[in-house]
Amino acid sequence: MPRDVILSNNPAPEDDDPHLRPMRMAEMVGQRDVINRLEIAIDAAKKRNEVLGHVLFDGPPGLGKTTFATVIPAEMGVSVDFLSGPTLKAPKDLVPSLTNLRPKQVLFIDEIHRIPKSVEEYLYTAMEDFRIDMILGEGINARTHTFKLKPFTLIGATTRAGMLTGPLRDRFQIREHLDFYSLDDLTEIVRRNAAKLKIEIDDQSATEIATRSRSTPRVANNRLRWVRDYAQSRADGVITLAVAKEALKVAEIDVLGLDRQDRKYLDTLIRICLGGPTGIETIAATMNTASDTLSDEVEPFLLRCELILRTPRGRVATQKAYQHMELPQPDRDDGQEPLF
Ligand code: ADP
Repeated sequence: MPRDVILSNNPAPEDDDPHLRPMRMAEMVGQRDVINRLEIAIDAAKKRNEVLGHVLFDGPPGLGKTTFATVIPAEMGVSVDFLSGPTLKAPKDLVPSLTNLRPKQVLFIDEIHRIPKSVEEYLYTAMEDFRIDMILGEGINARTHTFKLKPFTLIGATTRAGMLTGPLRDRFQIREHLDFYSLDDLTEIVRRNAAKLKIEIDDQSATEIATRSRSTPRVANNRLRWVRDYAQSRADGVITLAVAKEALKVAEIDVLGLDRQDRKYLDTLIRICLGGPTGIETIAATMNTASDTLSDEVEPFLLRCELILRTPRGRVATQKAYQHMELPQPDRDDGQEPLF
């Protein structure tokens, strides 16, 4: 389906580069099991001429939740309206989108764990019975009016599945967790997107960029765009392995995919805090940054790489972290073996 057939009152959020987002399921790389299950559900719904059941995606940022919310309506041949949880502060923010729905349309709510209780309760009847009850008028004139909605599919996306209430989670018929991408899949994404960006790249360079992209397509896209800029500005416009390595070095992205902020965290923990255990607030204050930023944006990847541990007494640098940062591991003076 051509791009402009997907009509929408609220278009997809401004992408870093909308041209890189797959528009059909067949263009997506990886997530084979998820795609397989969705294709079955979509096929069956189309054969029954029914609306697709509500779908919930959870997983870390940049793994394809919004992309699925773009391709599912395209496969169903319906339009999609994009909303974001934090902007839905009261039911009145949701009502226009619900009452304007066209039959079988998709409504996408990103960061759905951030909608307040009052909005969530509106969604219950909307999702279950395709109706909403609104109180019109005040005092003794107040009347409850029931509005019938067109059958629709709600697609919810969350990075924090645990923060969703049971009643809301249970109203999604299809629930899918998106996992990190294999190196092969990420390399394939880099290769395809280089072609979309009309830049020449060899296989080794595509693998090099993918290796340093934290198993995450959005990160791979950002790295690729930077390497392309570098190739066009400082080389002859072709991405070779040497160009890719030099570009990533200039951006201070190391072989594990750590960036400046990650390395500063490790340096603070190892050199200043002597490897820990150190509380997150202390690390944040020393780095002059917010502890939320560290726990949400920096630590998940360091934990995944087994560079730090979160212990009840605080954060601890692992042996791998010392090796990676090329810093000497201090001798413990309590006569015990190193804990980690
Ligand atoms: P999320 O909504 O989970 O934060 P997005 O769906 O916005 O992530 O994905 C970010 C970018 O990564 C997309 O614009 C797209 O270019 C790319 N991407 C994500 N998943 C895939 C995939 N399975 N195949 C190819 N590219 C993908």
